[in-house]
Amino acid sequence: MKSFAILLASAAVLATAPSAVSAQRTPQADTIDASLPTQLPRTAIPHHYALTVTPHADRLTFDGNVAIDLEVIKPTTSLVLNAVDMTFSSATLVPARGGAALTGQVTVDDSSQTATITFPRTLAPGAYRLQLAYSGKINTQANGLFALDYKTKEGADARSLFTQFEAADARRFVPSWDEPDYKATWDLTARVPANQMAVSNLPVASTKPIGGGIKEVRFQTTPTMSSYLLFFAAGDFERVAKPSAGREVGIVVTRGNGSKAHYALDAEAMILPYYNDYFGTPFPLPKLDNVAGPGQSQFFGAMENWGAIFTFEYALLNDPAITSESGRQGIFSTEAHEMAHQWFGDLVTMAWWDDLWLNEGFASWMENKTTQHFHPDWGADVDRVGSREGAMNLDALNSTHPVVQQVRTVEQANQAFDAISYQKGESVISMLENFAGSDVWRDGIRRYIATHAYQNSRTTDLWAAQEAAGAKGLSIIATDFTTQPGIPLITVGPAQCVGGSTAVTLTQGQFSADRQQQTAASPLAWHVPIEASAGGAVAKAVTNGRTTQLSVPGCGPLMINPGQHGYYRTLYTPQQAAALAAQLPGASPVDQYGLIADSMALALAGYQPMQISLAFLAAMPPNGSAKVIQRVVGRWDDLYDRMDGDPAAQADIAARVVSAYGPRLQQLGFVPRDGEPAVDAILRTTLIGTLGKYRDPSVLAEGSRLFAAWKTNPDAIPGSLKSTWLGVIARNADAATWDAIHERARATTGSVERASLYQLLGRAKNEALARRALDLALTPEPGKTTSAGIITAVAGAHPRMAIDFVLSHLSQVNQLIDISGRSRFMQRLAASSRDPQLIPVLENYAQANLAASDRKPIQQAVDRIRSDSVQAQRIRSETAAWLKAHPAAAGAAGGRKGERG
Ligand SMILES: [Zn+2]
Repeated sequence: MKSFAILLASAAVLATAPSAVSAQRTPQADTIDASLPTQLPRTAIPHHYALTVTPHADRLTFDGNVAIDLEVIKPTTSLVLNAVDMTFSSATLVPARGGAALTGQVTVDDSSQTATITFPRTLAPGAYRLQLAYSGKINTQANGLFALDYKTKEGADARSLFTQFEAADARRFVPSWDEPDYKATWDLTARVPANQMAVSNLPVASTKPIGGGIKEVRFQTTPTMSSYLLFFAAGDFERVAKPSAGREVGIVVTRGNGSKAHYALDAEAMILPYYNDYFGTPFPLPKLDNVAGPGQSQFFGAMENWGAIFTFEYALLNDPAITSESGRQGIFSTEAHEMAHQWFGDLVTMAWWDDLWLNEGFASWMENKTTQHFHPDWGADVDRVGSREGAMNLDALNSTHPVVQQVRTVEQANQAFDAISYQKGESVISMLENFAGSDVWRDGIRRYIATHAYQNSRTTDLWAAQEAAGAKGLSIIATDFTTQPGIPLITVGPAQCVGGSTAVTLTQGQFSADRQQQTAASPLAWHVPIEASAGGAVAKAVTNGRTTQLSVPGCGPLMINPGQHGYYRTLYTPQQAAALAAQLPGASPVDQYGLIADSMALALAGYQPMQISLAFLAAMPPNGSAKVIQRVVGRWDDLYDRMDGDPAAQADIAARVVSAYGPRLQQLGFVPRDGEPAVDAILRTTLIGTLGKYRDPSVLAEGSRLFAAWKTNPDAIPGSLKSTWLGVIARNADAATWDAIHERARATTGSVERASLYQLLGRAKNEALARRALDLALTPEPGKTTSAGIITAVAGAHPRMAIDFVLSHLSQVNQLIDISGRSRFMQRLAASSRDPQLIPVLENYAQANLAASDRKPIQQAVDRIRSDSVQAQRIRSETAAWLKAHPAAAGAAGGRKGERG
C-alpha cells in the first residue's frame, strides 16, 4: 500500500492460462501456523473460494454467493469466519466424500467481525464445501466494495465500483478466513452491466450475456494468496496495455482518460524486467494492471492487489493541464512501490500484521532504489535521507514502537501503516544493504523469495536468507533495529591525528525528543554499523557496548555516517561541527542534507544549542544542489513557523531566504523551460510557494497577473505550476478570490482538478474564509471523498479551528473518512499545531472515541506537541539571538528588483 501523504485494448486479454498458477492450487498445510495470534479458531482451513457477486450500484448493495472448499482439522460443530455488514440467506455444508448436505445456522458478531455457522452435528475432520448466500453493502469510502462517483467529460454523473481490502476488509466483500496466512486460490465471477468493463487480479476467462443488460464475467483462477489481495472493479473504463518481459502491463482508467495513462504504463513496462531480474523469480501472473479510481482516501493512495494494483487518479494520471513535476515523479515511485509488493507482500506475505514492515519497509526501499536506478538525476538519494528524518521524527517520541510490533486488533493493524513501518523500515534496510554489500543483499533477497514463494514468512526468515547469502553478522544488527524502538545517539569524542589517521572514541546512547534525561540514564543499546571518514578511506566498525575506538584514515574534518546510510544521530563537539559546516559546500548533496538535518534535530531536541545547526543551514551555498536547496528552504520555513509571534525574527528569516535563494528563482524563471533538469522544475515550485508565503512582491505580482488571466482562461497558468500558483493565491485569498476559485471548482468536471480546487478553498489564511471552507465540506457539493481533504487543508493554517469543527460534527465527518483512517485523520489535523492547549482536547477525543488499545496515533500527536512546547522558548530565544548576531549578507536583496519570469 502506498500511504496517503500520486494502446486501447479490450478487457479480455491473454486467454492462455498462466503456467505458474496451476502448479500452486493446493496450499501446503504447514502454511497454517498455530503460533500466530489469529482472531479465528483453528478448526478449518480454506483452500479455494468460488465467488459470484452481483453488485447493485444504484442501491449500494450487492448479492454474493460463495462456495469455499475447506478442510476441517479438528472435530467441531461450528465454523467461524470473518464477515462484516452482511445478511446471510443460506448456509450449507457438503462433505467432499459424499453424504447428506448439512444446513447451518448463521449468527453474526459485529464486534469480532465474525459469522459463526453452527451445524446440527459434529463435523469430522476432512474436506467439505461450504456454500453461503448473502448480501452486503457497497460503501462510499474505500473499505470493502465501494463506489466512487465522478463527472464524465460531458458533465454527467457516473459511478464506478472498486474494492479495498487491506488490512482487514475482504470480510466486507466475502465471508472468509480474512487473515494473511490463510492463503487460498480464488475464482471470481461478477455480474455487471454489459457496457461496463470488469477487472480483477487475473485476466477474464469468459464473458456471457445473461439478459437484462447484464453480462457474467468469469476471471481465471488466482494462485494461492491472502484474502486482502483480492481485487474487483467495474465501470465505464478503458484500458491501455503493452507487452513487457513476456507479460502484459496495463493501466485501466475511466473512459476518456486513456491519454493520461501512458506515463504510468511506460513506468510499469520499464520496471517489470528490472524486478524479474532483481528478485530472481519472474512475475508469476500473465498480466499486471494498475486501475485508476477517481477520488481519494484518508488512509492510502495506492494498493498492491496482485496483478491489479489500485491507485487513485491523482497519483497515477499524467495530465499536462495539472500534473506537476513532483506529481510525475510520484507516478513513477507509486508504480515502483506497488510493483515491488507483487513479490514482497503478494508472492511472499507476512504471516501476521506484526511483520507488516516486511511489506512496507521493503517496498519503500525498493521504490527509492528503483528511482535511483532509472532516474539518477532526480536526487532520490537525498529523498532517502528525507525518509530517515521522517521516521526519526516519530521514532524519537516515547509513543513510538519497534519496527516489528504486536498487532492484536483490526484498528492496530490499520495503525501499523505509519512512518515506522514505511520510512524506518526503508532506512534500516538501506543500512543493512550497505552493510552486506548490494550484491550479497540482492542474493539474499532472491533466496528469501525463492524459499517462501506462495507462502508466509516472518522477519527472521529474511535475516536467515541474508546470512545464508553471505551477510555474516547481519542478523544481530537487524534484530536490534527491528525489535527495539528508538534511535541510537553516537557522541563523538575529541579527535587526535595519529600517524596520518584520526583516532576517536565514540560513545553510544539513545536519542530522544521527549525523554532526554531518562534515555541518557538508561539508554537502549544497539549493534550499530558505523562508517566514518576524515579525508581518506572510509573506516567501518560495528558498535558493541558503550564505547567504540575508531581509527579513521586521514586527518581532515571527521564525518560520521558519510553517505548517510546509518540509522542513528551523531553529536559532534562544537569544534568538529564548525569544521564540518565550513566544509559543507564541498560535501556531496546527500551528506549536505544529512548533516543539516541531523544537526537540526539535535538542536531542536536540546542536545546542542541552535547556533550550531543554524551555522550548517547558513553554510548551504545558494548555487548548490537544487534538491538540497529545496529541503533547506523547507528547514528555514519550519523555523519561520516556530518563530510565530516574533514578527522581527520572521521578517529576518524571510529576508534571508529571499536574498539567498530569490536569485535562484530568478535564474530558473517563472516559466518552465523545455528540457530543464527535473530537480530545477521542483525547486521552482518550492521557491514560488515559500516566497509567496513570505509575500515577496515579485512573486505576488506574478501570481496576481496569472490569476487574473486564469479566471477567464484555465490554461493561462502552465499546467505543471497550476497547483503551486493557485496554492499561493488561495493562501492569501480575499473573499472575491475565494469565490472565484469556488466558482471554477463547481464548473470543473475532471475529478483530480475538481478535488484539488475544492481543497484549495481550505488553504485560506483568512479565518472567515477558512470557516466557509469547513461549512462547505459538510455539504454534498464537493463530493464524498473530497470533503475530508478540505478539512485537512484548513488544518494546515488553522489546526485548532479544524479540530474543534470536527469534534462538533463528529458523526457527519466520520462519514467522510474511511473506517480504517479515522484515528489517524485526527492525528493529521493536529500535525501543524504546537499549541499545548490542544493536548487535553486530543486526549478527551481519544478517551471518548477510541478503545484503549487503539489510541497510539493520538498519543503520538500529544507527545510531539508536548516535546515541541517544552523546547519552544529555548529554540526561539537561541534562534533570535543567532539571527541578530549573524546579519544576512547585505545587498543581496537588491538583486530582486525587476524580476519577472
Ligand atoms: Zn506499500
